[in-house]
Amino acid sequence: MARYRDAKCKLCRREGDKLFLKGDRCYTKKCAIEQRAFPPGQHGHLRKGKPSKYNIQLREKQKLRRMYGLLELQFRNYFEKAERQTGITGTNLLCLLERRLDNVVYRLGFSSSRSTSRQLIRHNHFLVNGKRVNIPSYLVKPGDRVTLAEKSKNLFVVQESLKNFDARQMVSYLEMDVNKLEGRFLDIPSREAMPIPVNEYLIVELYSK
Ligand code: SF4
Repeated sequence: MARYRDAKCKLCRREGDKLFLKGDRCYTKKCAIEQRAFPPGQHGHLRKGKPSKYNIQLREKQKLRRMYGLLELQFRNYFEKAERQTGITGTNLLCLLERRLDNVVYRLGFSSSRSTSRQLIRHNHFLVNGKRVNIPSYLVKPGDRVTLAEKSKNLFVVQESLKNFDARQMVSYLEMDVNKLEGRFLDIPSREAMPIPVNEYLIVELYSK
């Protein structure tokens, strides 16, 4: 599967917001947004003017897509799936993204970023309901248990991330037992429960043109 390989901080600078793509570094003063809060590129700091409505919608979509590390086609597929579901399309879209296994692993504190989660999952370090799952886009269902494989319990990267576990906020639709190294996806979240700082209505408007 193709993926973005360029500098991640550029993406945050382009969106003018922290997307937390680099784990613990994002919480330090080394964060590029703290130092250069203007778009990347030679003339990035010179860009001015009122953005068009299209531009605002596009930036919101890019922000959400980049937060979850998805390419355009993958993101578009999630949108189409969300449209086919009953309920509010924007909320459905966010729910689908939140249910991705790489996101759940990140939110549970097993890793410090979604990209690290993805790598750990690909390398067979996680089980869902006791069965090995190595597909980062796997959609977790309510009641599913996410655990580390026995051989992976002492992985340095996981242990380091769990040390900072309290520093990150746990969402209400997940539960984590740090002693057992076991997380649970409790329920499909409401919009209010998902701490995703985007206006999903703008994304629906963009794709509905
Ligand atoms: Fe974004 Fe993290 Fe880089 Fe800061 S350190 S710009 S939050 S990826």
